[in-house]
Amino acid sequence: MTNNKVRVRFAPSPTGPLHIGGVRTALYNYLFAKKNNGTFILRIEDTDQTRYVEGAEDYIMESLEWCGIKVDEGVREGGSYGPYRQSERKGIYRKYIDELIEKGWAYYAFDTPEELDELRNSYEARGDKFMYNAPVRDNLKNTLSLGKSECESLIDGSVPYVVRFKMPPDEEIKMTDLIRGDVVVNSSTQDDKILFKSDGMPTYHLANIVDDYLMEISHVIRGEEWLPSLPLHVMLYRAFGWEEPEFAHLPLLLKPTGKGKLNKRDGDKMGFPVFPLYWPYGETASGYREEGYFPDAFINMLALLGWNPGTEQEIFSMEELTDAFSIERVGNSGSRFDPEKAKWFNHQYLQMKSDESIALEFSEILKDKGIEEKTDRLVQLVGMVKERVNFVKDLWEQTDFFFVAPKEYDPQVVKKRWKEDSSSLMKEVRALLSSVDDFSSENTERVVKTWIEEKEVGMGAVMNAFRLLIVGAARGPHMFNIISWLGKEETLNRLDAGLKKLKK
Ligand code: GLU
Repeated sequence: MTNNKVRVRFAPSPTGPLHIGGVRTALYNYLFAKKNNGTFILRIEDTDQTRYVEGAEDYIMESLEWCGIKVDEGVREGGSYGPYRQSERKGIYRKYIDELIEKGWAYYAFDTPEELDELRNSYEARGDKFMYNAPVRDNLKNTLSLGKSECESLIDGSVPYVVRFKMPPDEEIKMTDLIRGDVVVNSSTQDDKILFKSDGMPTYHLANIVDDYLMEISHVIRGEEWLPSLPLHVMLYRAFGWEEPEFAHLPLLLKPTGKGKLNKRDGDKMGFPVFPLYWPYGETASGYREEGYFPDAFINMLALLGWNPGTEQEIFSMEELTDAFSIERVGNSGSRFDPEKAKWFNHQYLQMKSDESIALEFSEILKDKGIEEKTDRLVQLVGMVKERVNFVKDLWEQTDFFFVAPKEYDPQVVKKRWKEDSSSLMKEVRALLSSVDDFSSENTERVVKTWIEEKEVGMGAVMNAFRLLIVGAARGPHMFNIISWLGKEETLNRLDAGLKKLKK
């Protein structure tokens, strides 16, 4: 590191919607940066134009924004290490590949894809795996095997070429990963990876290393799927003579059940989103935002998938996460994604939100249904039922009968709860309530319960029939809270309508 400043980057390729594993990588980078007074950089790695997907870049940025992961330097934010989109850095890489060629760490290769396919097939037929590396490179078409003049004329004659890294044979490559500790790999297991192509574009490996160096990245925190690239990356730093950043490879997110990592297709198949936001292009996919998750609940849930605070605490705000986060407490085995736990987090956050803020969100849902209601009445309602829901959108299922009087009466409940004497009892309750002026929950409860005691009728018999007439079913919060909210007039109307319909 040229200075001691912490500079980390999230470096997605815009090849589709950002998976929640990617969001977690971004989050850990962000938390690490904030914890260490560092800088969080968003770099768009779009060197492979064949995999570019329209809309993906905006999607990535919108996702981070929704999550509250603030970018310090990036395509939109700017910064003094830009441009932050690799396709706009195209002119930068040539110089570095030339440097490697000059130092003898890289070479031109002219083998056509067909020739290489043929080789691969013949190796496979013998049960072997073809690797372009030291034992075979001298027999292939490249600057190491061909004469200088032949190579020059090939390059000048615009024959497509690639530039490959010259991986030295049989060397112990020693690396350190902050999560895995020391890792040693023999260089003979590595092939001569392509670093640059004749269209002037670097491959991921070269662009990634050069940019991390130029952007003075101090810590590379990324998904475990990049661990196999680490030997090459470390060798590239050494070939250039650059100081290496620290590396941390994050364990995978695993499927809720069964084997393997949570992949893009699992989500909607298994009934939960694997993307932060709805993906509207081509094969559409659901997102946490649209499912009704609060961004802080979503982030809290993700943070704990792989990192643990070392205490029993489960609920963390972004600030608390920033304070508590450390790479040392990131585990080295995969974390199983648990969709039920995700809902649990949202439930907890919903309970912590003010009834006013929930009421405000709920009023939007009601508006779509053509229902307008006073804010203070909605706040009251939210307070009555929020414990029963995980999402604001579920409030409707719990409160529909507050807004719409029952038209039908659940036949199962009628069969079970509407007895011979129900009708006469309810007529008495109606008469009783019609004489009550103070329609507060406490008062109506006191009046009705006193009557029940005096009359010596069963509490269940009265309350079940009462609920059936008011709600139309055997559900909902405390009965006296319901009628207090509905008010006297509506309560009496519902009793009349129900009595008329159920008769007997
Ligand atoms: N562009 C790579 C990706 O899509 C970045 C890997 C890295 O962080 O080095 O994940």
